[in-house]
Amino acid sequence: MLASLSLLGWPRGAPALSILIYHRVLPSPDALRPGEIDAARFEAQVAFLARHFTLMTVGDAAAALREGRLPARAACITFDDGYADNWTVAHPILARHGVRATVFVATGFLNGGRMFSDTVIEFVRRVPGPVLDLSAADMGTHAVATVEDRLTAVTALQVQLKYLAPAERDAQVARMLAAVPVSGLPEDLMLSDAQLRELAQAGHEIGGHTVDHTVLTTLTPEGAREQVARGRDQLAALLGRPIRSFAYPNGRPVRDYDAGHAAMLRELGFEAAVSTSPGVALPGADLFQLPRYTPWGDSMTMFAARMMRNARMRRPFAVV
Ligand SMILES: [Zn+2]
Repeated sequence: MLASLSLLGWPRGAPALSILIYHRVLPSPDALRPGEIDAARFEAQVAFLARHFTLMTVGDAAAALREGRLPARAACITFDDGYADNWTVAHPILARHGVRATVFVATGFLNGGRMFSDTVIEFVRRVPGPVLDLSAADMGTHAVATVEDRLTAVTALQVQLKYLAPAERDAQVARMLAAVPVSGLPEDLMLSDAQLRELAQAGHEIGGHTVDHTVLTTLTPEGAREQVARGRDQLAALLGRPIRSFAYPNGRPVRDYDAGHAAMLRELGFEAAVSTSPGVALPGADLFQLPRYTPWGDSMTMFAARMMRNARMRRPFAVV
């Protein structure tokens, strides 16, 4: 089926760089993580991308853009946050297809950390049914009789936590866990130092993503600089190599980062940064606001169609 899929209709003209966003690659589908891809679907996508695109790391693609030598149809596979399955599940697939990816790591979660969204999922997976009563934590009561109920509860709880300030959110998560204690929450979701080194040694680029995954616009300019520089320095010390690229946490222009942050990254010596604004990067693109997007659908036909639609959005939204 892959051979019959083509990119007929791909916009002609200047070379274009498509940068894809992934977070996790699950060993098998997980009903409580419907937004995450599993190994089989990822392998199909990597095979398709390797057939139709020149796949590059973000640092290499930015250098090619800067030097006017971007291949006609270039793409980057990127992973955000630093999940262990980037090494255990995604890497073997990438290696089979000779592809190098870019992994943006929030260093504060390395070695056993857990992001709040994952804590919610793993908590709701483990609570006894049929009703989750979180009134003691001021978080309402939720039906958890079926998998569908649990997924609805996950979404509701994530929304309640998402917009809290980081310290307040940590405290609220602690109240949630105290209200209905569960055991066995996983402590191996994120990369360890050793896994991170293996990823880098295998040829993948490791980029910055702050320490605590704090949205830069919620910090003072000094605070943002500290989060970015400290994350970068930790990665550089662990890997013994300079860190060239950065992914803005959440990544939406204006709301999550501004022109001052882009200038600050340049000043700190980064060569490129990626947003989560869709579109492709053309020659002359702002290397500190490279667009990225999440194209996948349930089928490879949908995946290819979405990549093409994204490539037609020639002017990504950016801050100026
Ligand atoms: Zn992230």
